[in-house]
Order: sequence, then C-alpha cells, then structure tokens
Amino acid sequence: MASNLWGYLPSTPVGPLAVDRAFYGRLGAETATRTLVERFVIPIRTGKAWPVRAGQLCRVVVVEGPQVADFNCWNLHNPRERFWAARTKQLEGSHVTTGNRLWSALPYLRPMLTITNDTVRYGVDADGGRCHDLLGTRCDPYVHKLLTGEEFDYCCHSNLTRAIRPYRLTELDVHDVLNIFQVTGLKDDRYFMKASPARKGDAFEFFAEIDLLCAISTCPGGDLSIPLWGPDAGDTLSVCRPLGVEVYQPPAELLAGWSSPPASDYRGGHGLEAKAGGAG
Ligand SMILES: [Zn+2]
Repeated sequence: MASNLWGYLPSTPVGPLAVDRAFYGRLGAETATRTLVERFVIPIRTGKAWPVRAGQLCRVVVVEGPQVADFNCWNLHNPRERFWAARTKQLEGSHVTTGNRLWSALPYLRPMLTITNDTVRYGVDADGGRCHDLLGTRCDPYVHKLLTGEEFDYCCHSNLTRAIRPYRLTELDVHDVLNIFQVTGLKDDRYFMKASPARKGDAFEFFAEIDLLCAISTCPGGDLSIPLWGPDAGDTLSVCRPLGVEVYQPPAELLAGWSSPPASDYRGGHGLEAKAGGAG
C-alpha cells in the first residue's frame, strides 16, 4: 500500500512546498505496471551520466553491499539549471527521504525531482545522524591534495567530470551533491560521517519532474567505514562496491493530473529597471 511509504515522512511540508502524497505514493508503490527503460551498473570508483525524462522514475540500487553515491542533476536541455543543495537543505531538510524534492538553482527554482521510495528508512540515530546527506559535498582532488599531499584522480568530483564529458559538460558544471546512502550529522557544530547502512537490495527512487541529466560517482571512499583522510585513514578499496541504476516509465494513467512544473515566474528584474510610480 502506498501509505506505508509515506508514514515515514519526517515532516509534512505545507503551502507551496506541499506534495501530493497520494499521487507520489501510488507512483512509488505500483511497481508491477512500470516499463523498464534502461538498466546499468556503475563500477567502483567511476562515474556515469544518463538522462531521465520528465514523468519517468529512476532507482539507484545497492547491488552488492553498502556504497555511497555522489549525485548531481541538471535540466537536460539547459545545464545552467542544476540542483541547488543549499536551498534544498532549507526547504526540505539537511537529509532527504521519501516525499522530499530536490530544487533547482536561480533563476529557475522549481522541483527537479521528487523522492518516491527510500527503502533505507534510517531515521535519526543516537548522534543525530541521518541518511542521504545534503550537509557535505563531493570528495575532490584539490582537497585531497591539500590534506594528504597525494595526487588522486578518482575522487567523486573527477568521476563526475569524466561522466558528463559526453554531454559536453566540464568540472565547472559539477556542483554540490546529494550523498545518497551516506549518513552524516553535526556534533558540536562539526560535520561527521558514518558507515553507510544500506544493504543489498536497498534503493533510492525518484520521479523526474522535468527532463533531467543525472550523474553519479561511486565514491572512492566506498561505504565510508574507513576514513579517506585523517589519522585513521586507510585503504578504502576493499569497501568500494558498484551501484545499479534503473529507469522506468510508469503507465500514463498513473500520471493523470500531473504536469511538469514551470520555472519561477518572478519577473521583477531585481530593481535594475526603473518602474513607473517608483518602488512597487
Ligand atoms: Zn567521494
């Protein structure tokens, strides 16, 4: 039943942030009627980019064992419209789960996707840790060099950079990520990470509100059970695992009443143009 997925919602957004629970609950629950569009596996320490059309569902699947995915997305037709982690944190929370949405950057500001099924259902642990993280960002070779002195080409930033190259995008298009299957929190105002609680068969599923280009890096930190940096740092290769991706087309009748959301209709011009009658 759809209601099972939605009883877990940590909070109930209202007003312009409200989501149609019945609609997204049905999309997440009715798996038998969807048609598989594409399925692939992303090997360890690599990246992959793929389109998800508006109205399609996409699942990121734990195929072998726990592994963190660093996720980026763009409007498929306009890479300036991309996922905005900071605003999403404010509107949805610092961690996202079923019923939350990822919002796009200015001047667009619309939901790019809605999460329809998070099977991890981690909740809140004793340290205040939660899963699917927006607090942190991707690992990158610049901070890696800063902290370790080493050159390393398979950080998430680099994996994403290689992944989007076929779409003529560069590292300047890589942005702050959603860390899927990653548990984080703040303690004494310091960011902490924990080993991923995801198990084989777990999935993080979302509905594309607009045509998307999605990209994932299978983090070289693997399941984050061994620190990449710091005094306890070790070789994380043994805890790196591949992740699966599946794209589905739900039947038209399940999409009845839904329409792709428009970009913001703000037309004020930031006060750059004088208005008749002064400030209005
Ligand atoms: Zn990483």
